Amino acid sequence: MPELPEVETVRRGLAPVLEGRSLAAVEIADVRLTRPVDPAEVAAELEGQRVERVDRRGKYLIVRFESGRALLVHLRMTGAFLVGAHDDDPHRRAVVRLDDGAAIAYRDVRRFGTWLLLEPDEVEAYLDSKVGREPLDDAYKAKHLAERLRGRRAPVKAAILDQRTVAGVGNIYADEALWRARVHPLTPAAALEPEEVAAVYRGIRAALRAGIERQGSTLRDYRLPDGGEGGAQDEFKVYGRGGEPCDRCGTPIDKIRVAGRGTWYCPACQRYRGA
Ligand SMILES: [Zn+2]
Repeated sequence: MPELPEVETVRRGLAPVLEGRSLAAVEIADVRLTRPVDPAEVAAELEGQRVERVDRRGKYLIVRFESGRALLVHLRMTGAFLVGAHDDDPHRRAVVRLDDGAAIAYRDVRRFGTWLLLEPDEVEAYLDSKVGREPLDDAYKAKHLAERLRGRRAPVKAAILDQRTVAGVGNIYADEALWRARVHPLTPAAALEPEEVAAVYRGIRAALRAGIERQGSTLRDYRLPDGGEGGAQDEFKVYGRGGEPCDRCGTPIDKIRVAGRGTWYCPACQRYRGA
């Protein structure tokens, strides 16, 4: 599933194409994309809207219109935007044609992605109910993470996968962040010492920045709007690297399950320390 670095990369690809343009024609060919709202109704509402800005919060892409309305897109497992109409793509679920003649296709193999059109007064409240603070904002500090982890008995990995703890971290970047922090993924969140919380905070930010720098990771269906692929998977420290030597100490990376998710860590650098 695309996480913050992948969605941010998509945002950067879409912004120059969409910003300042009006949606001339919109076709939504999949009822699952907009349900329970009729896709034809959403398409009709979108037509004529002028894009002010393409934003992101956590894993949500936010197409903000001059009218104050916003289209919230969640790519889930396999959603992707591609510049161009891509009329022959069997997985195309929607196409947006712009007033300058450009087109953007939305493809989604597994069809878990969602498009939600919100009224001006609904946008921020909706996002606040779904996601916590943006980890890469200047205003985001270790104390904010500490507040969210305090008193939680869940393993730290499960706690940071919760989108209300911090926005945009998923299975990949959680493992990468905890390796950087030298914290075992099963450590109960409430048992972390303040310096460990600070290390997790720094680990999250460093792992996400490294992902953005490489334009996200391409595993399965993730694609950049220009059709290219990200390269972050080539620099993962632990994710998907079971049996390979740890970059720091050479110990083979181990795989366990945490919160039902495959979890990779270094058994030497990330020692288990219970409550
Ligand atoms: Zn190690």
